[in-house]
Amino acid sequence: MAKDKKFVEEITAMEDDFAQWYTDVVKKADLVDYSSVRGSMIIRPYGFAIWENIRDVLDGKIKETGHENIYMPLLIPESLLQKEKDHIEGFAPEVAWVTHGGSEELAERLVIRPTSEVLFGEHYANIIHSYRDLPKLYNQWANVVRWEKTTRPFLRSLEFLWQEGHTCHATSEDAQEETARMLDMYAEVCEKYLAIPVLRGRKTDKEKFAGAVHTLTIESLMHDGKALQSGTSHYLGTGFAEAFGIQFTDKNGELQTVHQTSWGITTRIIGALIMVHGDNRGLVVPPKVAPKQVMIVPIAQHKEGVLDKAYELRDQLKKVARVDIDASDKMPGWKFNESEMKGIPVRLEVGPKDIEKGQVVLVRRDTGEKIFVPMAELETKVVELLEDIQNNLFEKAKAHREEKTSIARNMDEFKQVLVENPGFIKAMWCGDVACENFIKDETSATSRCIPFEGEPVSDTCVCCGGEAKHLVYWAKAY
Ligand SMILES: [Zn+2]
Repeated sequence: MAKDKKFVEEITAMEDDFAQWYTDVVKKADLVDYSSVRGSMIIRPYGFAIWENIRDVLDGKIKETGHENIYMPLLIPESLLQKEKDHIEGFAPEVAWVTHGGSEELAERLVIRPTSEVLFGEHYANIIHSYRDLPKLYNQWANVVRWEKTTRPFLRSLEFLWQEGHTCHATSEDAQEETARMLDMYAEVCEKYLAIPVLRGRKTDKEKFAGAVHTLTIESLMHDGKALQSGTSHYLGTGFAEAFGIQFTDKNGELQTVHQTSWGITTRIIGALIMVHGDNRGLVVPPKVAPKQVMIVPIAQHKEGVLDKAYELRDQLKKVARVDIDASDKMPGWKFNESEMKGIPVRLEVGPKDIEKGQVVLVRRDTGEKIFVPMAELETKVVELLEDIQNNLFEKAKAHREEKTSIARNMDEFKQVLVENPGFIKAMWCGDVACENFIKDETSATSRCIPFEGEPVSDTCVCCGGEAKHLVYWAKAY
C-alpha cells in the first residue's frame, strides 16, 4: 500500500532498527524535544499530557491509601547524603554537585537530589516522637537528577519526573506490608491503565536499592524482548532511621526505631508504553491514559454541513470521551497519519455521504479495523470500543510476553535463547552473586526478579550447577 510505504520512509521500521524506531516515534509523535544540555529532554505538551494522566491516576490511589503529598527541597548538603553509607556509595557516581552560589564557593557542597531518602530522614527525625505519630505516610511529586553516561528520552535522562513515597512505621511487619501494598498499586496502574502486563517479584541483593533491606519490583517486557523495570518499592528496615535517629516512644514508654519504606515510579514508564504498544505507524496509547481518545476528521469539510456536523458530534461525544477535531486545512490523509502517529485510539471520519446515511466511520488504531456506526448509537459504541481497545492492548502485550518467555537449564541453553528468542529467561539460581556476575559478564543479561509466583524449572543453578535456591527471571534490560 502506498500509505504504508510512506510511513516506512517517515519512521524506521522497528524490525530494522528498534532504537532508531524509538527515537523516531518520540520525535514524530511530538512527545519530546532535545535541550541544549546532553541527556536533558523537553517534555512537549502531548508527552506531558500522557504523564499528567498517569500521574493523576497514581496520585488518586496514593491518597486513597492514606498518604499525604509533601514537597522537599531540591538541594541536599553533602554531609546529609553521607549519613547512610550504602546509599552514598550507590548514588555517588551519578550525583550532580553545586559548588558555587553566585561567584562564591560554598563552604559545603550541595547535591541536586538524586532521590530524597536523606531529606525525609532528617525531617522525620524532627517530627516523629511518639507511637501516636505513626505511621507517617508521605509522598512527593518531584524532579530528580542523575548524571547518566548514556541517555535516551524517557528511558534514561539526566533529569526525570517521578513520585517518591517515604513512610515510617512502628514495626517491621507494618513497613513490609506497606512495601507490598505499594508494589501492588503500581502493578494495578500498569496493567489496568497502561495495559502493560508486569511480573512481580523481589530484586536480588546485587540489584536492590542502595540502602534497602529488600526491593520489590515490577518488570515488563518491551517489543524487542528487552525488560524494563517499571516501578520499585523498597523495605528500608531501620538503616536510614538509625543513621538519622528517627525514634519514637512506644506504648510502654520505651524508645524504638522506626521501620521505613520508599517507592517510586517515573517518567520512564512512558518509555515502556511506547515500546510495549507502538508499531511501525507510530505510537499506540491505551485509551485510559490517552490525552485524546477520539480524533474527528471531517471529510470534504468545505462542503456544506460537514463541519457543523463534525462539531455537533464532538459535543455529543465530549460527555463520554476525550475528543478533539482536526478542522485544519490539511488533507484528510495527512490527518489520518498524524492521528495514527500520535497513537490516538479511535479516529472518527464523517463526510457528506455519511451524513446522508446518518452514520460515521470509526477506525481503531490498534487493529486498523473500520466500523460503520449509526450516529444515534455513537456514544455507546465509542465507550465500548475504547474499552475493547484497552483490553486488546493488554492481551496482545501479554501474549507477546508469553511468547518471549523461555526456560534455560544451563548456560548453553541460556545463550541460545538470547539469540533465538530474546525475552525473559526463567532459570534457577544458587543465590551466589558470583553466578549473577558471571551471567551478566557473559551474556549482558541481568537478574530482573525472583518472582512471587512460579514453579522451579530445575534442581540446579543455571550457571554453576550447584543446588538451586531461587527461580529468577533474567533478561537484557533498559
Ligand atoms: Zn550458581
